Amino acid sequence: MAVKRTPFIAGNWKMNLDHLQSIAFVQKLAWALSDAKHDFADAEVAVFPPFTDLRSVQTLVAADALPIGYGAQDLSKHDSGAYTGEISGAFLKQLDCGYVIIGHSERRTLHAETDADVNAKVVAAHRHGLVPVLCVGETAEDLEQHGASAVPVAQLRAALDGVDVSKGLVVAYEPVWAIGSGQAATPAQAEQVAAALRAVLAEIAGEELASATRVLYGGSVKAANIASFLREPNVDGALVGGASLDIDEFSSIVRFKK
Ligand code: PGA
Repeated sequence: MAVKRTPFIAGNWKMNLDHLQSIAFVQKLAWALSDAKHDFADAEVAVFPPFTDLRSVQTLVAADALPIGYGAQDLSKHDSGAYTGEISGAFLKQLDCGYVIIGHSERRTLHAETDADVNAKVVAAHRHGLVPVLCVGETAEDLEQHGASAVPVAQLRAALDGVDVSKGLVVAYEPVWAIGSGQAATPAQAEQVAAALRAVLAEIAGEELASATRVLYGGSVKAANIASFLREPNVDGALVGGASLDIDEFSSIVRFKK
């Protein structure tokens, strides 16, 4: 029997919006969601602000019981100690984060994160009860040389080595060439890779967990193309960068109609 997965729309703010701006943004987003309640698809919505905003977002979400999830954009693979500049999963959990992005291509490229680092971070997230939003994706060169699925599939296998998927997982397929470029993948490509990733999940964790796990697409998602991705059977939502910073655009994205 086909499992119904709740669509997940995640806004990755990257290094944008300070803690004051985050409060204004989340308030407006809550308004947009309450306005949409009866007319639009029922998606789960989460934002991923910079670390320094998380306490403000937590306070606001808790005070008004807002239907908005949140998480961090990264975490340390260590739990505490002499790791200057690092943030532990324990701290994120104390701020009631539900999720944490792991292995974003900007971390892999600009901070030289390896598959082994990504794997250790997934394990660290699970140690603290956080659900990883695990990013995988191919570069333009990979696409040309190996096709779309090979690198994302290899990254997924490496990231999940020894991982208990039943502790929670969201996978985000983000072709590197589509991130911030304005050139999104076609829905057909997103579907092809999402299906390949789900097949790997089935192999690793069994059919049941694989069919319950959400696989997102990310890379130049905007209000104008969100519905085309969500129509694909294996694409369960989006990880949105640039377009998650504009309240009108992001509100339109979370209120997508299939
Ligand atoms: P983009 O970024 O939506 O600006 O392409 C996506 C991401 O980096 O997660």
